[in-house]
Amino acid sequence: RAKNLGRNRYAFYTSELTADAHQRMALENELRHALERDEFTLVYQPKLNLKNGQLDGVEALVRWEHPQRGLVGPEQFIALAEETGLIVELGRYILDSACAQLGAWLHQGFAPMRLAVNISGAQLRDKHLLKNIEQVLERYQIPPCYLELEITEDFVMDHQRESVTLLQQFRQLGIHLSIDDFGTGYSSMAYLKELPLDTLKIDRSFVSGLPGAQDAAITQSIIVLAHNLGMSVVAEGVERQEQKILLEQQGCDVVQGYLISRPLPASQFAKSFLRHSA
Ligand code: C2E
Ligand code: MG
Ligand code: MG
Ligand code: MG
Repeated sequence: RAKNLGRNRYAFYTSELTADAHQRMALENELRHALERDEFTLVYQPKLNLKNGQLDGVEALVRWEHPQRGLVGPEQFIALAEETGLIVELGRYILDSACAQLGAWLHQGFAPMRLAVNISGAQLRDKHLLKNIEQVLERYQIPPCYLELEITEDFVMDHQRESVTLLQQFRQLGIHLSIDDFGTGYSSMAYLKELPLDTLKIDRSFVSGLPGAQDAAITQSIIVLAHNLGMSVVAEGVERQEQKILLEQQGCDVVQGYLISRPLPASQFAKSFLRHSA
């Protein structure tokens, strides 16, 4: 009986594995083509500064305008793009279009604001990244202080020594550095004091539990920790007014989430959130 079960199970796994591998290959091919065919686009989500009620900056988030499947979110393809190395090319494209957009907004006379771009671990391991970023800033005439890179804890933990050096180089250029999804990775407090970070973004999973006591204790602790280390704090995934109010009481600097706005296409974002400089 056990043997039988084993055999069945084996058969089940093989077919599933094959189907899975097949799907991945198909998706990988599609990703390559999507880059050539320019099917990626960016949406923009504002960050609201709680201290002055003003726009604190904006985060660019990638979307895939798939000809058949419609709008596909990054959760469906970023991991695969990382595994296949396509993320380097995709990441370059994202950085270029985000900076092109910011350059256009500045050129149109909108008040300058900081633009955040998500950078995955695989991109940080690309030895051309620094040079590439410098070139993009130069190309679109963007002062480095208006660029923010959002990185995740995992890269930092896996590559402690190299990451300190690389992040210091970004910092020297004047680029703003944030740690994204804080609290979800296998965090260590040690790296927080080693790394030249400006901002800590509290992961949505803690914010969604607010105003629950457990999560409130976590968000309060993160805010105090960040401030004591000289960093500012952004809470991501704020969906309800009561969450925003509590975060404000806890001393959080900036909030981001559907309560403020969903990520928007560039033109809509500009219409709703950008103001001409005086
Ligand atoms: P993230 O950087 O932590 O971005 C926040 C995610 O939460 C975004 O999902 C955003 O649309 C979503 N979000 C924002 N506010 C709320 C809210 O109030 N409620 C809920 N439920 N969700 C909210 P998205 O755009 O699907 O991106 C998912 C992740 O994919 C990002 O997490 C980031 O890690 C990655 N990603 C997105 N764009 C890029 C990119 O251009 N490059 C790279 N390397 N990764 C990206
Ligand atoms: Mg992010
Ligand atoms: Mg995040
Ligand atoms: Mg997140």
